Amino acid sequence: MQLELKNIGHNYGELTALDNINLTINDGEVVAIIGPSGCGKSTLLSILGGLIQPTNGNVYQLGKTPEGCLNPLTYIFQDFALLPWRSVEGNIKLVLEDHRLSKSEIQDRIDTVLQRTGLTDFRDAFPKQLSGGMSQRVGIARALAVNPAVLLMDEPLSALDAQTRLILMDEFATLFEKSAITAVYVTHNLDEATRLADKVVALTRRPGRISETVIIDIPLSRRRDDHPQVIKTKNKLWQLIRQEAIEADKELTGANS
Ligand code: ADP
Repeated sequence: MQLELKNIGHNYGELTALDNINLTINDGEVVAIIGPSGCGKSTLLSILGGLIQPTNGNVYQLGKTPEGCLNPLTYIFQDFALLPWRSVEGNIKLVLEDHRLSKSEIQDRIDTVLQRTGLTDFRDAFPKQLSGGMSQRVGIARALAVNPAVLLMDEPLSALDAQTRLILMDEFATLFEKSAITAVYVTHNLDEATRLADKVVALTRRPGRISETVIIDIPLSRRRDDHPQVIKTKNKLWQLIRQEAIEADKELTGANS
């Protein structure tokens, strides 16, 4: 499925959070949205997911959803959003209930996503027994279980320590490469954006407008931090958002008041 954003704008009362966003998310494409805190990344993701109705413009869903898709637009959250009283398997099962699936299809889907995320041995564990990295793997497994058309990922690694982040970044890269997943990946982290995205969209500080769209056409399996195009792209993106980030930081700390 392809998503087309046409002239999206959003106001919260007097505050214009987003302005004139035009963007296509092609089928099978991973699009990273970057920009400083408060530039409207989460608002944009919520508009894509249908949680917020934009003040202006429209989001068009074009093409078909994949076979067996139970929820076309599916979130992966920063804070995992697991139910503590349900096991790993129970948390995944939750999103498969109420869909008139047979018991064996539910079990098949659970087994498949546990295997894809390396969680098979943890199926009976409860969230409090899991590390942050394992918890996010459950979040990923739960999202994959519904066979989504588009994964909407809101800073999915930012609650994790640096090493775990690197490991999960590699796992995302493998997942995206093997499964041709369509995803919108919100992050303020340029390493994640340049490691995982086919297209990086940089937003300006308030109101969030697209300042640049950068295509990265290196296969994920060959993307390394020291790849010349990755270094060049990261530098370019950093130049774009550096001043915006400084201004946003001053605003947050009240240093410019
Ligand atoms: P980001 O995800 O890039 O940090 P957000 O989309 O969360 O940015 O927020 C964009 C701007 O809109 C910020 O200035 C934020 O304070 C404001 N904002 C976000 N949600 C609301 C809301 N529910 N009500 C009022 N203002 C909001």
